[in-house]
Amino acid sequence: MQPADIQAIGHELAIRWDDGGESFLKLETLRRNCPCAGCAGEKDVMGNLYKGPTRQLGAASFQLRRFTPVGGYAIQLFWGDGHNTGIYSWDYLRRADVE
Ligand SMILES: [Zn+2]
Repeated sequence: MQPADIQAIGHELAIRWDDGGESFLKLETLRRNCPCAGCAGEKDVMGNLYKGPTRQLGAASFQLRRFTPVGGYAIQLFWGDGHNTGIYSWDYLRRADVE
């Protein structure tokens, strides 16, 4: 599954998939569920979850400045507050759409 087209429209990320399906993902939801280690935490080999301090998210945090493809399997989102370590895989985006 690959996106045929990705566009930021208003407060959503619109993705058209190569099977003809479409996903409309709220930018705020994507940011709040940022999969990077700093936001989502990292598990050690024992399964303990380590998370950084909770960030205060403001209006700029939910503004998408730009995005760039990563290795053909994901996109990296650059947010208005400078956060850009979240790599969103196609799988992740496809699953996020069920909300
Ligand atoms: Zn993050």
